[in-house]
Amino acid sequence: MIASMNRRSFLGLGFAAGASALAPRWLVAQTAAGQDRAAQMRTAAANAPIKTTKLYDNIYLLQGAGGNMAVQTGADGKLLIDSSFSTAVPKIREALDVLGSDPAHLLVNTHWHIDHTDGNEGMHAAGFTIYAHQMTRERLSKPAEMKLFGMRLPASPAGALPVVTFNDKMQLWHNGDSLDMVHIDPAHTDTDIYIYFQKSDVLHAGDVWFNGTYPFIDESSGGSIGGMILGAEKLLSVAGAQTKIIPGHGPLGTKAQLQQSRDMLASVRDRVAALKKSGASEQEAIAKKPTADLDPLWAKGGFGADMFVGIVYRTV
Ligand SMILES: [Zn+2]
Repeated sequence: MIASMNRRSFLGLGFAAGASALAPRWLVAQTAAGQDRAAQMRTAAANAPIKTTKLYDNIYLLQGAGGNMAVQTGADGKLLIDSSFSTAVPKIREALDVLGSDPAHLLVNTHWHIDHTDGNEGMHAAGFTIYAHQMTRERLSKPAEMKLFGMRLPASPAGALPVVTFNDKMQLWHNGDSLDMVHIDPAHTDTDIYIYFQKSDVLHAGDVWFNGTYPFIDESSGGSIGGMILGAEKLLSVAGAQTKIIPGHGPLGTKAQLQQSRDMLASVRDRVAALKKSGASEQEAIAKKPTADLDPLWAKGGFGADMFVGIVYRTV
């Protein structure tokens, strides 16, 4: 149930209702109630169990309601990647405690989205210092909007903000490993980074990779289909055949699976671009079901084909 829930869930909630419609009504007709949507996600996250999977001697994957998290343990303290929802913080802390008594140390955000950063304030209060791309801090510092979901979010409290930021790249030496934290040109958002543990060969891709499903691309944060393809290619240039790759959503994956995702994205991009060039409107392009042959494999997540084709159409 947990595994299937993770596969079906997007931003921590089942989006199965949207699989066949352009977008479920409760997602699109709610600009005024956008904050309720965030509250709804937080409520769902409070009850979600967290599954811990060992990836290396001292690196673990944590999967709960929000985006996939990872933790590195050791004498330098715990390094956590992403913080899920605020309501998940007690369960995350329990999961971290099970992994030993190393103190809280660093928290790295892969990007600004609520399902990856909403727990920042709680984890900061627990002793974590937050690192992220400069644009993650900027977006969290101001009221934000995710237009596709009609979700409006207030500026984050000071304790939730990253206090160490970078633009292109930063390197950390932590618990005997060397970590590359590298900005990806706008792909899923304009705040994306990947984190690569060189020695242990573990790569956290953030939401530049949804493993096994059509991805969400945040147009209102600078995301685009072209950026997602280039982002996947950048990740492919980092990963080796044995690299354990953590997607932002979905199960732990491999370079071969990431390559399949990249090829799917490129194929959808080409098909939708051709329809757009031929003069088809967005609605017409969606109605032609250009991804029909791909849907059995990739639309199995809650994020429907029609919604994805719409995003591709608008950003191609
Ligand atoms: Zn995201």
